[in-house]
Amino acid sequence: MSQSLPNQLADISLYGVSGLTSEDAGKRLREFGANELPRTESRRLGRIVLEIIREPMVFLLLGCGVIYFILGDRQEAIMLLGFLGIILGITIYQERKTERALEALRDLSSPRALVIRDGKKQRIAGMELVPGDLLILNEGDRVAADAGLLTCQNLSVDESLLTGESVPVIKAAKHTQTDQATKEGLSSMVYAGTTVVRGSAIAEIVHTGSLTELGKIGKVLQMAVPEQTKLQLETRDLVKRIAIGAAILCLLVFVSYSISRQDWLGGMLTGLTLAMAILPNELPAVLTIFLAAGAWRISQKRVLTRRTPAIEALGTATVLCVDKTGTLTFNRMAVRKIFAQGQIHDLFENPDQKLPEAFHEIVEYGILAGDRDPFDPMERAFKQVGEDHLGQTEHLHPEWTLLKQYPLSPELLALSHVWTTVDGAMHPIAAKGAPEAVIELCHLKPEESAEISAQVKVLAAAGLRVLGVAKSRFPDGPLPEKQHDFDFEFVGLVGLEDRLRPEVPEAIKECHSAGIRVIMITGDHPETARSIARQINLPNADDILTGTELNKLSDTQLQERVRSIQVCARMVPEQKLRLITALKASGEIVAMTGDGVNDAPALKSAHIGIAMGQRGTDVARESASLVLLDDDFGSIVEAIKMGRRIFENLQHAMAYLLAVHIPITGISIIPVFFNLPLVLLPMHIAFLHLIIEPACSIAFEAEPTGQGVMQRPPRRSDERLFSKSFLIPTLWQGLTVLIVLLLVFGISLSRNQGEMEARTLTFATLIVASLGLIVSNRSWTESTLSRGRATNKAFWWVLGGTVVMLAAVLYLPSLRNLFRFSQMHPVDVALILGAGLASGLWFEAMKALRRARGQRLGEVKAHP
Ligand code: ADP
Ligand code: MG
Repeated sequence: MSQSLPNQLADISLYGVSGLTSEDAGKRLREFGANELPRTESRRLGRIVLEIIREPMVFLLLGCGVIYFILGDRQEAIMLLGFLGIILGITIYQERKTERALEALRDLSSPRALVIRDGKKQRIAGMELVPGDLLILNEGDRVAADAGLLTCQNLSVDESLLTGESVPVIKAAKHTQTDQATKEGLSSMVYAGTTVVRGSAIAEIVHTGSLTELGKIGKVLQMAVPEQTKLQLETRDLVKRIAIGAAILCLLVFVSYSISRQDWLGGMLTGLTLAMAILPNELPAVLTIFLAAGAWRISQKRVLTRRTPAIEALGTATVLCVDKTGTLTFNRMAVRKIFAQGQIHDLFENPDQKLPEAFHEIVEYGILAGDRDPFDPMERAFKQVGEDHLGQTEHLHPEWTLLKQYPLSPELLALSHVWTTVDGAMHPIAAKGAPEAVIELCHLKPEESAEISAQVKVLAAAGLRVLGVAKSRFPDGPLPEKQHDFDFEFVGLVGLEDRLRPEVPEAIKECHSAGIRVIMITGDHPETARSIARQINLPNADDILTGTELNKLSDTQLQERVRSIQVCARMVPEQKLRLITALKASGEIVAMTGDGVNDAPALKSAHIGIAMGQRGTDVARESASLVLLDDDFGSIVEAIKMGRRIFENLQHAMAYLLAVHIPITGISIIPVFFNLPLVLLPMHIAFLHLIIEPACSIAFEAEPTGQGVMQRPPRRSDERLFSKSFLIPTLWQGLTVLIVLLLVFGISLSRNQGEMEARTLTFATLIVASLGLIVSNRSWTESTLSRGRATNKAFWWVLGGTVVMLAAVLYLPSLRNLFRFSQMHPVDVALILGAGLASGLWFEAMKALRRARGQRLGEVKAHP
């Protein structure tokens, strides 16, 4: 009889295997090498340097150096080379940091595998697998190595990665190859890179690494693919435009300088200097750094970024669809109440009391309707009650063997286990599942089922997950196809408690104040859902969308229905996709969590798909753009907050970057056209770069989350980084600094203080003003004074470093000569400080004004 073959798979104790010992595995790992395909090598230092050297900045600096050499200004040339070294150093440091951040993420996201070693199930890194390891495969797993099936149940594998064939392939184990399977030519091998779409199996690894079929065809599994984000595209566009403008300007400056002053070398030097001053190469660099650092920061909140665009999208999410079980709750179930033979027993209220006899049978069948070595938290809870209360009774049956399982399906939320007793004549059958499903299986009379349904409501209203338990017997012989074909007898109800994660109510509150609607999705009973929704303060908890209702609605009706919905109950994963589609159609930006194989389409379709790291299947993880390492709702909210912070800081860095380039460009060009002495020479521009780059990429990046980021509605998803409400204040900041600089320059020239004096004053004012810009752009809402309290070490380093460098070039005679500065008078210092700070800090007044009016600078109108 085919059913008597061992299909109790994944049940190690019955299969009686212990796998490799860790010692043996270690030896084999040294012998066969790690289970990995040759990867695209990570960027080495040499390659990073090579790439940086190709930067235009480097050419420009070198070009200026060469001209100085020709002019005979050797010291200047050497100094420029020194600057080049320092700038390269900073860039390499940045790149390495970025690279390391990405590397760390890669390690976190590297695939893991469930194996049996030393007789125990263990989850290890896929890389550590060796031939001979016993691999446990479950629905949704990506197979990590080529392996032969020892036992398997209903196993279908998607081999499209290897064969291109998208129809899942059915597999059979070697020893259990039935005549049927042999006839159909079912394979008993599974291959690395394929995914399990259904069933479970234990397989012995045959080949690892490049010896696998996948390795032989030289295909590399896709890791998180670097994708161009919207911001990157937008930035690239802007950079292109600025670059064209800059090139034209430089040419004009070169020609007009050369003609008016009859000095071609000088003209070239001035043109190159200007190019250095306005080339917008920092813009994309800053963006790359922010995204990489952002992914790293989000991973510190235990959320892994698989697709970079998600980092940007996080700040725009308007709806957050979350699974109840495991995300809002711990998914650690405990049996709290039992209903059987017309009585109710509360295990929590009577912890020391012996379980009354009336409740023994329901626990017995509850356990029988689960795995021997259960993974499912509900089944563990049943087993726990059995161990606590039935240890000395005849209700536990370690000697029985499992004959067949009827799995849970979306159509019938119940499962049955058929057992073989020692004598084997009659097979006991245990079923458990959603009460409606169990009632259906028992073919109860209407009044009986009404009574039970009333009890279900009572239990569920306390927030418990309610399961029904039923029993039956069947004579030895061929088993029927469906659970419905057994004659089930109703045994009772069990109410399981699953504690809420303590941080959930607070996190939900945060979402609400941040304009994000939270939708709870659960497969549970509507009453249970309602009770939990109340506990976590979801408004509108009485308006529940059930899976049955969803099926009845048309697409347009559903779109209308989801506008206010916050609780979805008795939903099967397949229905999530429709829900997401409807939400998207009604204009929402949707983030959604999921864990199973059948969640994958919805995860892909959501704007931000979030997979569970602990419970989640590989298939779900690979469809998602974020992975929650701890399955914790609080982390999602933290990630959203981080997403908003990253966007804000990026905006501030860009604002500073654009603003500071206006005075630099202006003060470089104007003297050329008006035939005045030049203010900025190549070394001054190089000096400026020493401030600007770290300020943008380190100081602004490290700026902590501003107050109120979670008190405003989500950013509009169509909001551009360089929107008008962003550009106008930015341009004004830059223009003010330029005007102040021109005044300082003009006044000192008109006082006949000479070229050096004028340059000294103007340059120093520019540096101070630039610091002013950094300080006031740390936040566009809070005043600098209140921001000052936020810790940002990088910011203080940039500030302190700049002051020290400025003092050095002003007061060390050798540097002063190289920079063509004159000596300073105390009055000058006062002038510089006054003018510089004033030009940067008027922005503070503007912020204060907006605050007083209850508006926000740079704000784009919220969603209509
Ligand atoms: P959720 O989305 O809250 O995790 P599920 O989709 O996992 O809910 O489960 C939906 C319903 O299916 C449960 O409320 C329960 O009635 C039934 N169910 C799920 N798993 C089992 C199981 N292992 N045994 C019996 N019933 C189950
Ligand atoms: Mg579940």
